[in-house]
Amino acid sequence: MRLTIIILSLVMLEYVFPQVDKYVTARNNMVKIQITDRGITNVETIKAMRKVPRHLFIPKEYENDAYGDYPVPIGYGQTISQPYIVAYMTEIVRPTEKKKALEIGTGSGYQAAVLAEIVDTVYTIEIIPELASESASRFKKLGYKNIIGKSGDGYNGWPEHAPFDIIIVTAAANEIPKPLIDQLAENGRLVIPVGEPGTVQELMLLVKKNGKIEKSRLTFVRFVPFRRSKNERN
Ligand code: SAH
Repeated sequence: MRLTIIILSLVMLEYVFPQVDKYVTARNNMVKIQITDRGITNVETIKAMRKVPRHLFIPKEYENDAYGDYPVPIGYGQTISQPYIVAYMTEIVRPTEKKKALEIGTGSGYQAAVLAEIVDTVYTIEIIPELASESASRFKKLGYKNIIGKSGDGYNGWPEHAPFDIIIVTAAANEIPKPLIDQLAENGRLVIPVGEPGTVQELMLLVKKNGKIEKSRLTFVRFVPFRRSKNERN
């Protein structure tokens, strides 16, 4: 009886405070070993990575791998990025509380959640409808009211909400979609893996200054392919 009450209270505690979870230590270790020891210094990024319950963005069967130093399958042939890459991409776009962000490739929703801890609003687009709806229920359950998602081909961005201070593309494209460059605000920062899918790609940073784009190459990465939907192709 007493045991039942204890178990019930623990379950309720986890429901009321989703952050009170058995992975707190794993998450703090992840942040120390994979994030700060490797040179990530942006305080807001570090705080967000400590807070977001990554294991709740991963299918139950892989839950134990949630804080590992590698990408994890999320179904439909897609993956959630390695924690370091999420932190790196978050830091490089210089998130602050008043900024508006667009993410292409919602996937599990983890990168969107990390950004949403810092910025004002995150718009996110996912081409696989099942992943779009799974991430939408996650955002709802975890209380992320500042993430607005939709299902579709992100190639054309989200003109109704443009311009964006931050654009993060989490799928590898051969070319940088022009509509995304157009939807970047002045001083806006866009990060995208560019190159052939299936091999390594180059992570590129684009910054808009006085209407002109400054491009720089950051590092090598490996992302799932950027896909196009037939009816939205142009
Ligand atoms: N940011 C994700 C990573 C998901 S992997 C996370 O934190 O979990 C990249 C995702 O991009 C996949 O879910 C894939 O379906 C999606 N994707 C690929 N091409 C796309 C496109 N043209 N528009 C929107 N999403 C796309």
